[in-house]
Amino acid sequence: MKIDPFRLPGVSEERPLIIAGPCSAESEEQVLMVARALSQMGIRIFRSGLWKPRTRPNAFEGHGSAALPWLRRVKEETGMYVATEVANVKHVYEALRGGIDIMWIGARTTANPFAVQEIADTLKGVDIPVLIKNPVNPDLDLWIGAIERLYHSGIRRLGVIHRGFSKYEQTAYRNHPQWQIPIELKRRYPELTIITDPSHICGNRENLLQVSQQAMDLNFDGLIIETHHDPDNALSDAKQQITPDQLKELLSRLVLRHAEVDAVARVTLDELREQIDQYDDQLMNLLERRMGVSEKIGEYKRKNNITILQTRRWDEIITSRVKQGLEKGLSMEFVTKIFEAIHQESINHQTAVMNKQDETVSDTTQK
Ligand code: PEP
Ligand code: MN
Repeated sequence: MKIDPFRLPGVSEERPLIIAGPCSAESEEQVLMVARALSQMGIRIFRSGLWKPRTRPNAFEGHGSAALPWLRRVKEETGMYVATEVANVKHVYEALRGGIDIMWIGARTTANPFAVQEIADTLKGVDIPVLIKNPVNPDLDLWIGAIERLYHSGIRRLGVIHRGFSKYEQTAYRNHPQWQIPIELKRRYPELTIITDPSHICGNRENLLQVSQQAMDLNFDGLIIETHHDPDNALSDAKQQITPDQLKELLSRLVLRHAEVDAVARVTLDELREQIDQYDDQLMNLLERRMGVSEKIGEYKRKNNITILQTRRWDEIITSRVKQGLEKGLSMEFVTKIFEAIHQESINHQTAVMNKQDETVSDTTQK
């Protein structure tokens, strides 16, 4: 794919690219009030949901096409670009007819290839910038699949929105950022514009700055932040929206570090990276030796007819390793993940040993 940069005439190319506006368009007065405040701050792209995908029915589902004229007024009055979410063919037609400048595909829609294909087919031959949110589940291929579907329809001004991934367990985030997924996406498609959505990642106002800063430290391109004149009384996502003034404050506190590394920094970084390489090397050797011991255990269990999985032993391992990890400043989530992976690999090695011996047994019996 040869994706074009997500550039819009009149919008600064400097990082961060900011998109702001309410979760939902609630009334003409509301969108105009927020847009005027944002435009005065120099923000050039206005977001607002018209068709709202709500988890449960009977929640506010947006004003739909009736709100399109309100966004047209935002354009006329402030000169801002207006962006909204589209989830089906009807939305695309109406948004195009209503003068929407940028469309985004929501997280639930990206997870559905039929819906994405339908949108892509409808946009064939239309030159409009499109942003694709990550799917709700942490599946990088599914995200890339959606990008490809739009690309194959001829859409070239493509960007993505990283809005976090849902998790069964409760975490500090509404949607877990899983930064390694957008990082891997950026590694594969360096030209792709990545915009982080701290609002939907956090689900609250308190952590917005920290998540925004992290996105900037990863050299992502922009931020989309839900902004409302009266967040507490918003009809959707009330807990995570901030006022234009709060947005101004947040942006002023962002530290923008540069991606280019000068000579001194390079030497320092090279030295530190060398240390990392050495530690990784040691980790690999230790893991190799640990698996060697697992194989010996496998042989022993095989000879003595003992099952591979001994639940009590595994319980003890995970409890003691998590405790030790916490003492060393490692998070419980990280230690659990690592030891689950090591345990699975150990079981695989033990099983391989057993199977090998089974084969030898059946070989000899056949002879
Ligand atoms: C939104 O941006 O308001 C929205 C519904 O987002 P998501 O698709 O990320 O849940
Ligand atoms: Mn929202």
